[in-house]
Amino acid sequence: MATLEINFEAWVDSHGYELSLRKEKGRKSPIVWFEPKGGPFVKLSPLDFHSTLYKQFADIPDDPDAYLDFMYKFGPITYTHSPEYGHGWGEEESFSELKDSKSELHEMIEHWRAGSLKYLERDFRAGVEAKLKPYQNGGLSLRLMPRTLYDALLLQFGQAVSNDRALRACQWCGAWFETGAQSKRTSARFCSDRCRTRFHNDRRLKGAKP
Ligand SMILES: [Zn+2]
Repeated sequence: MATLEINFEAWVDSHGYELSLRKEKGRKSPIVWFEPKGGPFVKLSPLDFHSTLYKQFADIPDDPDAYLDFMYKFGPITYTHSPEYGHGWGEEESFSELKDSKSELHEMIEHWRAGSLKYLERDFRAGVEAKLKPYQNGGLSLRLMPRTLYDALLLQFGQAVSNDRALRACQWCGAWFETGAQSKRTSARFCSDRCRTRFHNDRRLKGAKP
């Protein structure tokens, strides 16, 4: 079977994002929205460099600044913007919506780790479009294009579940990494060779002290 490539490119406001508080009729407390600052756009492919980005998102604390930090790195979460269509074009995201999305993903990850696959089977859903895009050396390749960063994170999570990978925290740097359930790497304790070397060097140094 041919492989389906996930293709997600994010346009990120290089000046970052900011909070905007707006009052609404009949509500005591203002609603917290996130808005792009309107700087030049930068293009990124976040999934290519962060194989467990879904876990990073699911671990964001319930603090608007933590979301701003995530957006500054990876762009808006539940909508997209681009040089072609402008910064906001009427779509925005509120703090409460983002917290809901985060909790949803967090809960699914917990169910996965607990082995409650029935729950995932029932509730998992990601919005994608399929497109044909040119290969570098001619011909067309079928690509799955998530509509938003959140869909991309769901898809990345879905792939991890589907490939029966396991999540583990690196014993040196604490970063999350995936280990193949069937492969030798099941016993891996570090995210990289660099971390393994550092861990062992550190032990050696500590052991050498009087
Ligand atoms: Zn590490």
